[in-house]
Amino acid sequence: NQDSNKVNNSSRILVFVRLRPMAKKEKEAGSRCCIRIVNRKDIYLTEFASSGNDYLRLKRLRGRHFTFDAAFPDSTTQQEVYSKTTAELVEGVLQGRNGSVFCYGATGAGKTYTMLGTVENPGVMVLAIKDLFTMMRQRSYDGNHAVHLSYLEVYNETVRDLLSPGRPLVLREDKQGIVAAGLTQYRAYSTDEVMSLLQQGNQNRTTEPTRVNETSSRSHAILQVVAEYQVRDSAMSLVNRVGKLSLIDLAGSERALATDQRTLRSIEGANINRSLLALSSCINALVEGKKHIPYRNSKLTQLLKDSLGGTCNTVMIANISPSNLSFGETQNTLHWADRAK
Ligand code: ADP
Ligand code: MG
Repeated sequence: NQDSNKVNNSSRILVFVRLRPMAKKEKEAGSRCCIRIVNRKDIYLTEFASSGNDYLRLKRLRGRHFTFDAAFPDSTTQQEVYSKTTAELVEGVLQGRNGSVFCYGATGAGKTYTMLGTVENPGVMVLAIKDLFTMMRQRSYDGNHAVHLSYLEVYNETVRDLLSPGRPLVLREDKQGIVAAGLTQYRAYSTDEVMSLLQQGNQNRTTEPTRVNETSSRSHAILQVVAEYQVRDSAMSLVNRVGKLSLIDLAGSERALATDQRTLRSIEGANINRSLLALSSCINALVEGKKHIPYRNSKLTQLLKDSLGGTCNTVMIANISPSNLSFGETQNTLHWADRAK
């Protein structure tokens, strides 16, 4: 029967939503919270309308309801987000299965906080590497293991090495798949060195000329972690295990969303983020169980070809602000995330 075929062919993508706390600026602008999370997985989005000049009359216009694999309220810790979204993928990587975790959402919604975090509150990237080290130490037959990191950026369909900034990298297809020629493979020996390495890498992300201190909202940052160690299998022979985890801090979704319905061709030259749209197309194709996944359409999807679909585990974390001032963007983000389920 066709239906069960479809289910078998399609990849399951786990989709999570993380609500960030209200920012000081949003409070000062008089914003109201328009998000309600129920049962740790249901989200109710409320639109408020104001009428009258001297007071805000709050009126429920439209309530929208979404449900996800989990919805994290603004009190959720970094460790909780990591444990519920990514820990299982780390386990898969240790068994040789590639995986990828994406943060999606508008600029300011909390993507970089979730992925990188701060020294006091490290994010998913650092917590995943920490877990990899711990578990490989326990499981490796002789205590030997290797972790290699690559950190790169896709900006305007140009690929750059964030660990060794310089000229753009060329993508090449070889036996192993698509690789960025000359990309740094940094061997990490402990979790301690990783945070500062990634913070430095993040500083190398492209900034827009008008906002030199801020990362461009159009920049995608991709951390690829390759873990390798040896175990004894049930027959006591030595086997090499290699797995790759890709952690992606996506470009701001605000511009792509408005044009979501357009085709890639029609957005050409319109200064819309090609990689973000191509990722949407791949995810939709995967979820629908299509045979052909259009990886070739962008640099981002080419780079993630071996980490997305097939037997790979994929996780999407949609980041949202609680403020009614971001209602439109939040609604778009939730719609997008809903389609990735
Ligand atoms: P994005 O990368 O999506 O543009 P950021 O991660 O830079 O957004 O977040 C915007 C601001 O909100 C930052 O100052 C960040 O520290 C803060 N922030 C985001 N998420 C959280 C959170 N869960 N808890 C506390 N602060 C957060
Ligand atoms: Mg960011």
